[in-house]
Amino acid sequence: MSLVLATLLEELTAGRLRVVDLTQPLTPQTPLLPLPSQWNNTPAFKIWELSRYDERGPAWYWNGFETGEHTGTHFDAPVHWVSGKDLPDNTVDRIPPKKFVGPACVIDISSDVARNPDFLLTPERIRHWEEQHGLIPAGAWVLLRTDWSKRTDPKEYINLKENGSHTPGLAKESSALLAEERDVLGVGVETVGTDAGQAATFDPPFPNHYLMHGSGKFGLASLSNLDQLPPTGAIVIAAPLKIVGGSGSPLRVIAITP
Ligand code: MN
Repeated sequence: MSLVLATLLEELTAGRLRVVDLTQPLTPQTPLLPLPSQWNNTPAFKIWELSRYDERGPAWYWNGFETGEHTGTHFDAPVHWVSGKDLPDNTVDRIPPKKFVGPACVIDISSDVARNPDFLLTPERIRHWEEQHGLIPAGAWVLLRTDWSKRTDPKEYINLKENGSHTPGLAKESSALLAEERDVLGVGVETVGTDAGQAATFDPPFPNHYLMHGSGKFGLASLSNLDQLPPTGAIVIAAPLKIVGGSGSPLRVIAITP
């Protein structure tokens, strides 16, 4: 075995490296992105029992399930957005698997979001973070720590008012900076989607999706436990299901962290 992999195992076994689960539980109650009603919405997760050591299957327990690709903690592929529809290898089954592993840069805006649920990450904040922690490297996941995943009540999580959902996200200039100048893998967020709750009203609408996926980058939505990661030094493993032609998929996201 290579020394690096042997050391990795040794450090994991000794507990000097930890595996942190960045995934929210997937249940029929898992909150969903609310789109205006003229558009199709993603279905809730649905699960049904096939047998449980009974007459339907005496020695085994198993379930069937049905889900939207973008339900719960999930991966967004470039083909998800019209801006990424013609890019090569833009579906979950065609993304090179080495892109499922990358370093994490965790930007903490949780105190701003506590004061303003519509807070948007600005390029100034990214540059300020880089002054402290170094330039965001190509191939990194930028994870936006908002502590939003601590809202366990689905109503508070979606935070729907008369004029739509109010949840934090990125200013479009930040998405452009990360996609075009930093060449990141993508951005990961604790909210239900990688755009802010009010992003349907932005120009262009849903600018993070538009800019990221148009540049062949990915998204991770509905993450949790970002407060357990350091600003730099953790590695994210995020491998979507190999759905042929898929635009995304629910997945288990883990981080290896000191
Ligand atoms: Mn999505």
